[in-house]
Amino acid sequence: MNTDDPGAGGARRAALIGAGLTGSLLAIYLARRGWQVDVYERRADPRRVASAGGRSINLGLSARGLAALREVGLLDAVLRRCVPMRGRYVHAPDGTLAFQPYGTREGEVLHSILRNELVRLLLDEAQRHPQVRVHFGQNLVGLTPARGQAEFAGGQTVTADLIVGADGAYSTVRTVLERHGHVHTRLDVLEWGYKELTIPAADDGAARTPLHGLHVWPGGGDGLMVAHPNVEQSLTATMFLPLSTLAQLDTPETVAGFLDAGFPDTATLMPDRVAEWLEHPVGRLVTVRATPWRYADRVVLVGDAAHAVYPFYGQGMNSCFEDCSLLAGCLDRHPAALGAALAEYQRSRKCHTDVLADLSERNFVELRDRLRSPWFRLRKRADLVLHRAFGRAWLPLYTMISHRTIPYADALRRARRQDAALLTALVLVLGSATGLLTLLVR
Ligand code: FAD
Repeated sequence: MNTDDPGAGGARRAALIGAGLTGSLLAIYLARRGWQVDVYERRADPRRVASAGGRSINLGLSARGLAALREVGLLDAVLRRCVPMRGRYVHAPDGTLAFQPYGTREGEVLHSILRNELVRLLLDEAQRHPQVRVHFGQNLVGLTPARGQAEFAGGQTVTADLIVGADGAYSTVRTVLERHGHVHTRLDVLEWGYKELTIPAADDGAARTPLHGLHVWPGGGDGLMVAHPNVEQSLTATMFLPLSTLAQLDTPETVAGFLDAGFPDTATLMPDRVAEWLEHPVGRLVTVRATPWRYADRVVLVGDAAHAVYPFYGQGMNSCFEDCSLLAGCLDRHPAALGAALAEYQRSRKCHTDVLADLSERNFVELRDRLRSPWFRLRKRADLVLHRAFGRAWLPLYTMISHRTIPYADALRRARRQDAALLTALVLVLGSATGLLTLLVR
């Protein structure tokens, strides 16, 4: 394991804690800028074990994530392993499907990919750089932030110019900084959790339900299920439910009864639904609002460690990837002043991920309660019609978040301006119509 040896040729040294999606992508960005990078991951190498365990199996990549992957030259390799999702298939309790397109243009699609597959690709690419070393089975347990020193279970310590906390929503780096009084964190745990289930391919190898979309079963207060497609024609479903309900569904009879009542088409789509339900753990969902994200010019938080969000806007990983690109840009603009680079990163970024946290909470209610509402569908359709009619002058919020890289808070401000303009136009039209009618009937 690495100790205190200086970086090759006097290169600056980064110790990245966590080789998840964020840590492995940031390792590539830093290596391309000449940093000596050591990544410390508490788990085993995911390329050598069957599963990294416990997290969602597949994820939806959208514009921000794709832009970052393009920057590091990985876009084509990643897209080859994705299934494009052109919209949502909304499942009604009677089994009928309604398709809601994501956008109006060919490229306005999301891409479903297996989490482990993506992490493996990123790690392979990172390790192509000779100055990147990845140390698996290394659990960070302590930090001396002022000295840039990290301590691992087993007693090893390492020193670096920059320590990066890319260790996820329950970050140890953040917790230690908090203990030292350097960071304050608000952690909101949703009173809903999730279970993962599989829609396997049919016996003839074909998909059991259309593949090129995100499937949604809006169950109202009784649950919400989504399913992402996989390249081998299966789909991985995630059932979100109140924790109190999940606790009661612990026998084959209660599970089958619950699914038959609210999600009847699962009986044909998921032959192993009951066994999987009883086997799989309950996942928890958390929003992290931490401030500040850095300690002096020595430690910085990125990805979920800084701003984990609920998964209902599909932006968690995408925003993490965007972090890596933005942090790299800040390092480029301040080549000799690490503190200034980290300060700019936080100043320019945090206001946007705070808005993403709010939007992700709001989208939970939207997916759960409103997807089948005629008013909501009319509103979405109106958005798409206006977008089609006015092009770039009218962008639905969803389009700006998922299919563009407009910073999150700017996107929300613009959506509010558009809504206000639409309301004014409606009031003016109604006002003129009423005026005309009054003149005519006089
Ligand atoms: P993590 O993925 O949590 O990785 C952190 C890494 O740090 C892990 O490998 C961990 O083992 C390691 N680590 C932790 N502590 C230590 C320690 N003390 N020492 C050493 N290593 C440590 N996002 C999307 O963009 N689209 C989606 O469709 C989407 N769907 C989701 C569905 C669900 C159900 C969930 C829960 C999340 C979803 N997300 C989605 C969000 C996405 O999973 C996260 O934003 C992303 O995984 C964050 O990556 P990360 O690397 O920052 O953190």
